[in-house]
Amino acid sequence: MTHTHANVDPEEISKFSELAARWWDPRSEFKPLHDINPLRLNYVDKKATLEGKRVLDVGCGGGILSESMAHRGADVSGIDMAAASLQVARLHALETETNIHYEMIAAEELAEKQPASFDVVTCLEMLEHVPEPASVIQACADLVKPGGHVFLSTINRNPKSYLFAIVGAEYILRLLPKGTHQHKKFLRPSELNRWARQAGLIAQDIIGMTYNPLTQKYTLGRDVSVNYLMHLTKEAD
Ligand code: SAH
Repeated sequence: MTHTHANVDPEEISKFSELAARWWDPRSEFKPLHDINPLRLNYVDKKATLEGKRVLDVGCGGGILSESMAHRGADVSGIDMAAASLQVARLHALETETNIHYEMIAAEELAEKQPASFDVVTCLEMLEHVPEPASVIQACADLVKPGGHVFLSTINRNPKSYLFAIVGAEYILRLLPKGTHQHKKFLRPSELNRWARQAGLIAQDIIGMTYNPLTQKYTLGRDVSVNYLMHLTKEAD
């Protein structure tokens, strides 16, 4: 199949590349990712026990999640299609003496080269930036070993998510640069679930991530109407 690179939106990649130098500045445009990282890291670790696991982080960016999983004892690889972000990720890993393999390769291409190679595959806050999210989900399913774990996170598509994730986050609270997200690319849990099932993944759990502008804190909970995180497993052979 020739889907390599086809499933990449160059505008999305340049948007992230332009900000790349600021990945590790916790007061930058990436502050929300720094703030939610402990929550999602603990969730992944609780569900999949990271210590000693072979983990792939798809759309790893500057490596915020990748590094934190390595610090929990996982053997982590990170892939992204933004070269500048991968350079930042590599430099940061050197500085913190973290051993991570970063590579610029599409998930679909890696899935053809190394199918069924990872115990855990994470693909967080990335699907809403991709032309064909179903193809990335298929690749995640192909990359994970039978019985292994896949974690997907994105933003739900409904009027409330337009109000909170775009109007609120980009225009009122200015947590994210304007134009970071497009509402039509947000994905409903039912859509993720359908694509996941078609790819041989079974949804185990879904959890919401909500932001309280008064306390400026994020929490995990039952409200999946805006940001959410899904835990899936690959059918055993
Ligand atoms: N997963 C990271 C970064 C999220 S930002 C985290 O949650 O901390 C979204 C990332 O997806 C950016 O690094 C961007 O370069 C990457 N991305 C967007 N489209 C992509 C694609 N088609 N293939 C791989 N990475 C992509």
